[in-house]
Amino acid sequence: MALQLKSHCERCGQGIARHEKAYICVYECTFCHACTLWMGFVCPNCGGELVRRPRPKGAENETEQADQAPADSCGVMSR
Ligand SMILES: [Zn+2]
Ligand SMILES: [Zn+2]
Repeated sequence: MALQLKSHCERCGQGIARHEKAYICVYECTFCHACTLWMGFVCPNCGGELVRRPRPKGAENETEQADQAPADSCGVMSR
């Protein structure tokens, strides 16, 4: 049983591109980033936790690199 990558948010119906952020629960309910934030990372269908969906290999090339918040490079030299 392969993991099926759904391409639409189950809440707002918005399409989710392969390289875009998507969140899934253990039952593979799929939601877009905005809806996941709005719902507080809880699946409305099963009440389970929503986690980041892993992106397929190769999709990283076409997406933003500023995905993670920048590490705190400043503030080290504080005195
Ligand atoms: Zn959505
Ligand atoms: Zn669910």
